[in-house]
Amino acid sequence: MSHNFQLRSSVLPLRFFPGGLGARFWCNEPKHLGSNSSVRVAVASPSRTLQRHQAKAKATAKEVGVQETAQGSAALGWAARDASGVLSPFDFSRRAQKDDDVTIKVLYCGICHTDLYTIKNEWGTAMYPVVPGHEILGVVTSVGSGVTKFKAGETVGVGYFLGSCRSCECCGNGYENYCSGMVLTSNGIDREHGGEVTQGGFSDVIVANQDYVVRVPDGLPLAGAAPLLCAGVTVYSPMMRFGLNAPGKHLGVVGLGGLGHVAVKFGKAFGMKVTVISTSPGKREEALERLGADEFLVSRDPEQMQAAFGTMDGILDTVSAWHPISPLFALMKPMGQMVFVGGPTKPLELPAYAIVPGGKGIAGNCVGGIRDCQAMLEFAGKHGITAEVEVIKMDYVNTALERLEKNDVRYRFVIDVAGSLGSTA
Ligand code: NAP
Ligand code: ZN
Repeated sequence: MSHNFQLRSSVLPLRFFPGGLGARFWCNEPKHLGSNSSVRVAVASPSRTLQRHQAKAKATAKEVGVQETAQGSAALGWAARDASGVLSPFDFSRRAQKDDDVTIKVLYCGICHTDLYTIKNEWGTAMYPVVPGHEILGVVTSVGSGVTKFKAGETVGVGYFLGSCRSCECCGNGYENYCSGMVLTSNGIDREHGGEVTQGGFSDVIVANQDYVVRVPDGLPLAGAAPLLCAGVTVYSPMMRFGLNAPGKHLGVVGLGGLGHVAVKFGKAFGMKVTVISTSPGKREEALERLGADEFLVSRDPEQMQAAFGTMDGILDTVSAWHPISPLFALMKPMGQMVFVGGPTKPLELPAYAIVPGGKGIAGNCVGGIRDCQAMLEFAGKHGITAEVEVIKMDYVNTALERLEKNDVRYRFVIDVAGSLGSTA
């Protein structure tokens, strides 16, 4: 008799991957083109040049002048139009800044593996056109009259979501990330603003309620700080929640990608022993010497895995694709804690014997609340933690996405948005 449980991606994505069942459940309006929708989008011809878009966007903002705040403002992004996931220039409008909103000129935006799934509709959630991007770092250009937390000129960030219901238990406890009304920054449905489909940070400007914006500490290199807005909080938050931040404890990090390499840095800053578990032997040297990991295991090498049997207090699994997970549970001590943050589209297989005899725990984690995100940034500022990044211009984004899909990035692509797209903010 088989004792296999399955971690079904068809169940997991409800919260973490809204736009699927979640978004359909929350919004009865026909996506973004419904007759009652207030979405203001204009699909730009992909054949037009970036320069022409920049000129047009700037001219439009200038012409609109004062009305810009009252009626929304012209924005320029790069969007996917279909499941090919190919991005091209896209003109659209940002909603009008309200009293409690801040308008942010996007400086940098990281490219998360989630962006890749979304634009290729691998989770079946895409509402095209999709402007991806939820690792947004920018500067405040204007604030509404009721804004108390920020002022123009401050460096701020926006992460995976920019809204929630504010009244549920999760919101009350600082876990807006688990609110069923969470509004994704990209490819989400913003019910508070007419059911608009949200467009992300691969764009020159974004408007957000002040309560979903975080302050970026002085001194952090800006491009390297951008990935903290998603990758950073996604690993920091469960480390805090499950006590995987205690000096001397042994943390395993599976998958040395955007999330994984930041997890190594946080683990070391917490004073932990950190072991990387990877499919890429070529990452060993960097993991040990540059990122500061203590040990490096090749997960496909049974001898290396056997040697580490029962040594870890907890493991963060950040892998983006299907992979065998029983051998990972074997690495943990009795009562060790496994946390999954990756979102492979194919269900993972969990035999009961992997967790029952050792009383092992298993949990998931979806980014982190605003409070956690701010705390993570303060911690990163204090310890000088940023992502290792390859900064690119917007016109390289399609190549970058192809490389990300092939696991060819050390360790996060970050788009120099302001340096390659211009801004209307
Ligand atoms: P990434 O940069 O592409 O890193 C993923 C890593 O997974 C790769 O570097 C690779 O590490 C490993 N990997 C890739 N294919 C593999 C395979 N077939 N078998 C075993 N390992 C493999 O992606 P990321 O941006 O860090 O995101 C990782 C995952 O987390 C994605 O599924 C993403 O959607 C999800 N995510 C979740 C949250 C959340 O809130 N829960 C937030 C952001 C992202 P090695 O080369 O070391 O093996
Ligand atoms: Zn992300």
